[in-house]
Amino acid sequence: MDEELALESLDELPAEVRLNLPFHSRFMREALQMAEKALTIGETPVGCVIVHEGAVVGSGMNDTNKSLNGTRHAEFLAITGVLCSHSPDILRFADLYVTVEPCIMCASALRQYGIRNVFFGCGNERFGGTGTVLSVHADATLDAPYKSYGGLYRKEAINLLRRFYIQENKKAPRPRPKRERELNLLT
Ligand SMILES: [Zn+2]
Repeated sequence: MDEELALESLDELPAEVRLNLPFHSRFMREALQMAEKALTIGETPVGCVIVHEGAVVGSGMNDTNKSLNGTRHAEFLAITGVLCSHSPDILRFADLYVTVEPCIMCASALRQYGIRNVFFGCGNERFGGTGTVLSVHADATLDAPYKSYGGLYRKEAINLLRRFYIQENKKAPRPRPKRERELNLLT
């Protein structure tokens, strides 16, 4: 993974991120390391860390494939880790760094716990809950909204996902020859 962000990508980052780039980059790189770890064990490569007062208080990576439990997203595992040793109130003063935009389920959980800010790498085109599909972080509800900033190490986050899909495609059974499929359609 590149330690330095390409200069041309800096302009695309939200001002909030640019203002304190080394700080935010450090934690996003830790999230990317978690995602990388997920990839090596056949999980969708999404990783995150929760940061409170400049220190990581929880981290997580996707665990849905091995557990066959669709709720075991990186964010849920990180929250669980934080709650093992801290009061839930700490999350109101904590920020989440996650390689892929939180899905609608996670975006909602993060709001209920009152997370302060979310920083994500790439958008989640299918399930994104902080702006791409729905804006769960900012909709008018009873819970306080949170800020969500995307784009930090976006390319690296996407590359991990690409590597995962290539890896999974190689494992998939070989498709039957086209001719055989056409014959089936005719009968
Ligand atoms: Zn999720």
